[in-house]
Amino acid sequence: LGDLDAQFSVRHLPACESTNSVLMDAPPADDGRVHVVLTDRQTAGRGRRGRQWQSWQGGSLTFSALWRFDAGAPVPAGLSLVAGLALARTLEQLGVAGVQLKWPNDVLIHGAKLAGILVELLPGRGRTPAAIIGIGVNLSLPPTATIEGQKAVTDLQRELGRDVDRDTLLAALLRELHGLLTTYAAAGFPALRAAWEQRNAFAGLPVSILGEAEALQGTCIGVAEDGALLLRGEDGVRRILSGEVSLRAA
Ligand code: ATP
Repeated sequence: LGDLDAQFSVRHLPACESTNSVLMDAPPADDGRVHVVLTDRQTAGRGRRGRQWQSWQGGSLTFSALWRFDAGAPVPAGLSLVAGLALARTLEQLGVAGVQLKWPNDVLIHGAKLAGILVELLPGRGRTPAAIIGIGVNLSLPPTATIEGQKAVTDLQRELGRDVDRDTLLAALLRELHGLLTTYAAAGFPALRAAWEQRNAFAGLPVSILGEAEALQGTCIGVAEDGALLLRGEDGVRRILSGEVSLRAA
């Protein structure tokens, strides 16, 4: 990471159940650095709402970063959008075409899911508020991989026609994350909103929002200043907060 070396501490585990859980269960002391847990083999990766995230030894980048906000700062919503944007920009720098963001937390390439992001807040207990940002990127999926619940999935090898070194990708992504999270901590999501909107996979398209008692239908018209999804339906524009809902093409 060159000039950023002093700002990160990367702990490498040959195997673990979930890199988010490693940080959640035993958060490293606050020494001013961003603590990262990287694993070669994640055996019980989690998605949102109890879903599973699958990864393959040698075929995935799987890590979590613990980001601490300044004391007293409210831990803002919208962090998973920032993490998605950091990954999108990193991929674009590598030459990946067709990178899109699906609210709130997915990175798609031409509509196929390449990566998953799970942001969890670390309970404060009087300390500085902190967020655990977990990211899984498919580098090369085994030909036999079966992933339920997705119309299409992809990997970086397929998108670029070449192998991408995991640790090189991690370093580039941490650099981008550091830059965007610094902006976010100082100026909030409004400073990054336009960049997110440019890559919105569903801008202007009809979508369904699943997860509430009743599915909502409408047109995705963008994201608000706090990262909420803006959905235009028959009775006007509704704000959808992330967390317990999923977006689908209608
Ligand atoms: P969705 O992506 O279906 O809208 P979500 O955002 O709630 O839902 P996540 O928490 O990001 O989902 O990820 C979990 C889902 O991702 C799983 O239910 C599965 O469909 C899919 N998935 C799991 N592993 C992979 C993988 N390696 N590549 C692509 N998709 C995966």
